[in-house]
Amino acid sequence: KLHNQILELKGNIRVFCRVRPLLPSDHADNIQHVQFPNNDEKSILLARTEESHIGRDSKDHLKYMFSFDRVFPPCSSQQEVFEEISLLVQSALDGYNVCIFAYGQTGSGKTYTMEGPDQLQDDTMGMIPRAVHQVFNSAEELKDQGWTYKFTASFLEIYNETIRDLLVNKTVKKMEHEIKRPASNSTAVYVSNLKYLNVETVEEVLSLIKVAKQNRATARTMMNDQSSRSHSVFQLKIEGVNEVRNNITCNSTLSLIDLAGSERIDKSQSQGDRLKETKAINCSLSNLGSVFIALANKDNFVPYRNSKLTFLLQNCLGGNSKTLMFVNISPENDSFGESLNSLRFASKVN
Ligand code: ADP
Ligand code: MG
Repeated sequence: KLHNQILELKGNIRVFCRVRPLLPSDHADNIQHVQFPNNDEKSILLARTEESHIGRDSKDHLKYMFSFDRVFPPCSSQQEVFEEISLLVQSALDGYNVCIFAYGQTGSGKTYTMEGPDQLQDDTMGMIPRAVHQVFNSAEELKDQGWTYKFTASFLEIYNETIRDLLVNKTVKKMEHEIKRPASNSTAVYVSNLKYLNVETVEEVLSLIKVAKQNRATARTMMNDQSSRSHSVFQLKIEGVNEVRNNITCNSTLSLIDLAGSERIDKSQSQGDRLKETKAINCSLSNLGSVFIALANKDNFVPYRNSKLTFLLQNCLGGNSKTLMFVNISPENDSFGESLNSLRFASKVN
């Protein structure tokens, strides 16, 4: 509780930076450009040495320092990362809407962080299964105080401003999905024709992740890797009622979002559908930034309606809600420019 109060004092979006380890597939001569000065778990330094334009012998030392609520070096385990978000997840059972985003270029570890690696094992499980596990466990404990909970999960993808249900095989049936706001209840947004499934165990959630992965992979072969260019949104609706306390209710949504790759795609080389796609991604990511900044500034107007993602999440951002963004970073030298862009974006909203 105390920890939650401390978090509440901060109006801004919390930002955690995570740097993935170098992979065998990364170029061996690709010197790591990331450093962790001060050993304070909050600072990250991007450093690169370049041939200067002035003379062949002189070098430019480019250094950029950033600080965030927490910085995770490559050796950090999924467990260590989860420990830092578990209180935030817990507050979903206290009725707070909780949103957790992963932002970064393709290949920086967003999906690893959110879901885990392709071959799921207990110790490498990502934030989604861990969060669900914790919510179910806590719900079990709260039974003693008279609480009973109902959990509903959904898993969708937003590609080119179009919503697709990741729990439905696309080849089976193509559905139109719209974001709806029921007239009777002005707060809860839902998506038409979307599967909202009752879930009760972590195993069920793991199988949903698997189904979503498969459905995304099908689209990849059919339409030339859309997965890195779409936002995937996992939502767990939590509805609690307490019988021993006059049937008081406690409702919230936990949203975990694996964002589209943030890499700048060369507009001059994109045409037709590709250009449309490039514009849609740039637009929705920068709109997300604008929404975060408007919320942090407590602006009267928050541009939720400018993209599907923020329109869908409007009840879950701002107001009575808690938001955290992971900024995922690739350590290899080739990613210097993209890492710098990501860290700049993240420090703008933090
Ligand atoms: P993204 O979703 O941002 O495109 P991925 O999550 O697919 O990136 O990660 C790219 C590759 O790096 C994958 O092979 C993944 O398993 C690996 N990887 C990412 N983060 C880590 C990590 N923290 N530890 C080990 N491997 C990682
Ligand atoms: Mg991914």
